[in-house]
Amino acid sequence: MHNFIKFWGTRGSCSVSGHEYVHFGGNTPCLEINYHNSRVIIDAGTGIHMLGKQLLHETVDEIHLFIGHTHWDHLIGFPFFAPIYHSDAQIHIWTPPSPGRPCKDLFDDLLSPEFFPVRLSQIQGQARIDFHTAHPNMPVTFGDLKIEFHLACHPSTTYCFKITTPHQTIGYVTDNEMLQHYHGPLDNVPPDILEPHVSLIQFLSDCDLLVHEAQYTPEEYVKRAGWGHSSYRNAVALLLQTKTPQWIVTHHDPDHSDKDLHKMHLATKELLKETGSPCTVEWAHDGLVLKLK
Ligand SMILES: [Zn+2]
Ligand SMILES: [Zn+2]
Repeated sequence: MHNFIKFWGTRGSCSVSGHEYVHFGGNTPCLEINYHNSRVIIDAGTGIHMLGKQLLHETVDEIHLFIGHTHWDHLIGFPFFAPIYHSDAQIHIWTPPSPGRPCKDLFDDLLSPEFFPVRLSQIQGQARIDFHTAHPNMPVTFGDLKIEFHLACHPSTTYCFKITTPHQTIGYVTDNEMLQHYHGPLDNVPPDILEPHVSLIQFLSDCDLLVHEAQYTPEEYVKRAGWGHSSYRNAVALLLQTKTPQWIVTHHDPDHSDKDLHKMHLATKELLKETGSPCTVEWAHDGLVLKLK
């Protein structure tokens, strides 16, 4: 299979393991995009460990790794990404602007002696690693693949992504709090609550498929408003606005077992049906592969 996306990590915030997480898995975010000869990875959560092992068996000249934001759940797998220890690897790391401190310094900190036994300078003596800053309104293209960025509603500078091939457009949003502090019904969202999201809605409105989080139940969201994540009800509000036909949910809360996530899946299906939306919804699990045209 040549063209696909693969979810190597679908858990948000903190990795989990145990019998109650067997179906959805426990690795933190990592998405692989494979399109013709282009290899793009979004986020270096713990899921990147297994992806790295696989890449060692393939001939991949260049890897582009995009980090949506540098919270630990999106970065903690980086030191365990095997290609960084191989001299023939060329790895480009793309991050949002990091005001006051170049992003390379953050990686230096991640690999400081107190946290990890190998320095960034030692790694750079093996693989070739280049750091780049990604900017909204400045798409990056690799062959037929275009990657665009937009700010999400989340603490620290956080990007969400739009991936465009000649045949499909996919939105990828792991950390985004829709309708901050809103707990009301979907059919009557006040304009001032919706207003901060208008630009993002426009950005995502041409997607054929939208990957977007729905980390909390509406009941949990009452206590967790302002934490940077959406209730499933408020995430549905985004899907209604963008009119996307297909929704995949990722970045599952570490407090939610398989049983909880199955219940939330049913609740989102029900909610979409109630609103009359034709959008389909699936909840991603570690290892999920979606074929691209
Ligand atoms: Zn996250
Ligand atoms: Zn975060």
